Amino acid sequence: MFDCIIIGCGITGASIAYELSKYKMKVCILEALNDIGDATTKANSGIVHAGYDPLPNTLMAKLNVIGSSMYESLAKKLNVHYEKIGSLVVGKKEDEGKILELYDRGVQNGCKDLSIIYKKDIEKLEPNINPEIEIALYAKNAAIVSPFEMCYALAKNAVSNGVELHLNSKVIAITKKDDKFIVKTEKDEYETKYVINAAGIYADNIYNMVLGDNQRSFKIVPVKGSYYLLDKSEGKLVNHILFQTPSEKGKGVLATKTVHGNLIVGPDAIDSDSKDDVSVSSDSLEYIREKISFTTNKINYKNNVRNFSGLRAKVMGFDDFIIGNSIVSGFINFAGIKSPGLSAAPAFGPCAKDIIESLGFKFERKDDYKDYPINKFFRDYTKEELNEKIKENPLYGRIICRCESVSEGEIVDAINDIIPALSIDAVKRRCNSGMGRCQGGFCQPKVLEIIARELHISPKEVLQDNLGSNIVLDYTKEGI
Ligand SMILES: Cc1cc2nc3c(=O)[nH]c(=O)nc-3n(C[C@H](O)[C@H](O)[C@H](O)COP(=O)(O)OP(=O)(O)OC[C@H]3O[C@@H](n4cnc5c(N)ncnc54)[C@H](O)[C@@H]3O)c2cc1C
Repeated sequence: MFDCIIIGCGITGASIAYELSKYKMKVCILEALNDIGDATTKANSGIVHAGYDPLPNTLMAKLNVIGSSMYESLAKKLNVHYEKIGSLVVGKKEDEGKILELYDRGVQNGCKDLSIIYKKDIEKLEPNINPEIEIALYAKNAAIVSPFEMCYALAKNAVSNGVELHLNSKVIAITKKDDKFIVKTEKDEYETKYVINAAGIYADNIYNMVLGDNQRSFKIVPVKGSYYLLDKSEGKLVNHILFQTPSEKGKGVLATKTVHGNLIVGPDAIDSDSKDDVSVSSDSLEYIREKISFTTNKINYKNNVRNFSGLRAKVMGFDDFIIGNSIVSGFINFAGIKSPGLSAAPAFGPCAKDIIESLGFKFERKDDYKDYPINKFFRDYTKEELNEKIKENPLYGRIICRCESVSEGEIVDAINDIIPALSIDAVKRRCNSGMGRCQGGFCQPKVLEIIARELHISPKEVLQDNLGSNIVLDYTKEGI
């Protein structure tokens, strides 16, 4: 019997598991997919928002400001790529009213270091900006982070401190009997005192499993946002996160460099009727190109390396996070975690702990809790450190991904990690192999071979990502 089962291991579930792992508590995460952070958490803008955007007195405002203030030290402690580069919301003279409104909202929400700046100062900060831009809200505390790395670091720390993580474990039914919940997956059945629903765009489906027929639920409508991800040569075009003045349709299209030095441009916002469709349409790409040309027209799309999309968990008719104990007591929702969910995530753990405590659980600190920083990327090592690593194991000297300088040693470490990378995409998310300009054209077959060797499986069993995504279907020649 578990004290707490967390459903979903995106940034929300991982952050909660990280916090609970500090206490004497039996915790388990059930994740439907073959890897952690493989849904909305891996496909967003990667921005830690300063917190001026959400309406005052909402959970989004409160948790955004708390969460973003926790990021820098958390990222440093866990070795996650994070950079406080600041953001600008840019506009023309006629946008001044809206920009001042955002400033006031930020002050009410408790954001620090906000200022209004004008043309000359904007151009000093951003030499490639459209000369028509005259005013901006400058938020020095806004930052960029690798969302997947942060999710992985939190989950790795949780698991290293005793939390059980079950991948490929899709929850299909939940019932409450006396004071405990029975949570069923396709393979197993678990008992627990508390359930945390951190299932992203599926949080309504999960909640419906535990509700009686006449009990009121909420409905999540996925809102798709697509992106351009451009080569590192384009990443130098901007120095800050560049937002446009928001409209009724949302925060608008942005351009920013990523923590890995690429340029990311997007997203749009399209209501979707599918929770699985992450395709990118040419209409979306055209819209993004057209909109961002207001911020800068210097982007060279010939340097585009990938397009992708993510799905926001919008709750129909309600514009805030749904966080708290539900009418089925002990079943705790972390639902409707749309933007600024990534920014707020570090605050979700303490928030979940408070809710569980209010339900009667007595929290006691573990004596042997330890932080486990994630491995540094090879390209972040000094030459001396690199030489030491290669002496320790020559596989660190064998480069598999030439675009991103990823060694075989790092790939082997990822596959044999406490949260093993079980697919080519999982290896890519851990080590960045295949993230460069050739997008895996050269290294993918090599990574496939390494996975097969390390997991003692046939190349035919190696997956691109989730179950069923096998790459080698059969051999064209005998004797291979
Ligand atoms: C286009 C876009 C841009 C964004 N940009 C930003 C940004 O810059 N800054 C910011 O702060 N926020 C941003 N967000 C929001 C942020 O990405 C989300 O708030 C955050 O990733 C949500 O994380 P999550 O863990 O709640 O959901 P997810 O990452 O979707 O994780 C939910 C997990 O639950 C699992 N699951 C679902 N059903 C089941 C089941 N039945 N059984 C077991 N497991 C299940 C899923 O497989 C998944 O792994 C953006 C979102 C989008 C879509």
